[in-house]
Amino acid sequence: MVNPDQKSRSKLDSDDYLTKKCPHCYAYLPLQAKVCTACQKKVGEVDKLGFAEKPVDWWGYLIAVVSIAGFVYFMWWGFFRE
Ligand SMILES: [Zn+2]
Repeated sequence: MVNPDQKSRSKLDSDDYLTKKCPHCYAYLPLQAKVCTACQKKVGEVDKLGFAEKPVDWWGYLIAVVSIAGFVYFMWWGFFRE
């Protein structure tokens, strides 16, 4: 005798994901996962679509800004110094 539980069925929505998808490689991960087991990239909380959010990579931004500043300085040094 199977009695489907209508209550718990209708309650199933975006807040009830059991897994989340890696936004980088689309692997399924546990909700608590902080790092993708497949591609080793950092993942955040699950969003409404069931994907893990990409955590803001401040260190990556910092490196990008520093390298751009270094490039600009290099251009200035190379073309305007003499
Ligand atoms: Zn991944």
